[in-house]
Amino acid sequence: MGKIKVRDRNFSVSIPEAKIKARVAEIASQISKDLKDKKPLFLAVLNGSFIFAADLMRGIDTPCEITFVRMASYEGTASTGKVHQLIGLKDDIKDRTVVIIEDIIDSGLTMKSLLQMLAEKQPRDIRIAALLVKPGNLKVDLDIPYCCFEIPNDFIVGYGLDYDGEGRNLPSIYTVTD
Ligand code: 5GP
Ligand code: MG
Repeated sequence: MGKIKVRDRNFSVSIPEAKIKARVAEIASQISKDLKDKKPLFLAVLNGSFIFAADLMRGIDTPCEITFVRMASYEGTASTGKVHQLIGLKDDIKDRTVVIIEDIIDSGLTMKSLLQMLAEKQPRDIRIAALLVKPGNLKVDLDIPYCCFEIPNDFIVGYGLDYDGEGRNLPSIYTVTD
């Protein structure tokens, strides 16, 4: 299944399933080592990160917890630009070691505002785990200690990421070709 069609667009495989699996396991053991006995709280950002979060967490071999949040964004005034809102965080993160699990970091603006909103809740430490990063599009400075893959600026689907709602079920990651 090297080439596929999702809705009206053509895609070809760019990161095959086996390669994702191996890299996610590598990152999971890195996190396990770094955060041993810190009881990290994973904070998975829905919807796109659900598959990555499930695979990553199964590779963690130190006690940990997971919770799920959602980021809503809407256009603010001309001066505020895009406004992000954090939905669904019921857990107390004060003094916790938090690991954000995100599917993809593109401009980085969503992640930047998530970090700011979480910082107000006084966690002990916040770290970012991202399946994919597009360094060519980054508009803000971000420290991403757990990045699985850096990719070019093309649109991708699969392994949890969608094109207009479809494609999340694909086990590999695909890049648009048209
Ligand atoms: P940022 O604020 O970093 O620009 O936005 C990140 C969000 O944009 C991701 O959570 C994701 O929803 C979306 N996104 C960015 N690039 C892609 C892509 O190539 N494919 C898909 N499916 N979503 C993307
Ligand atoms: Mg996302």
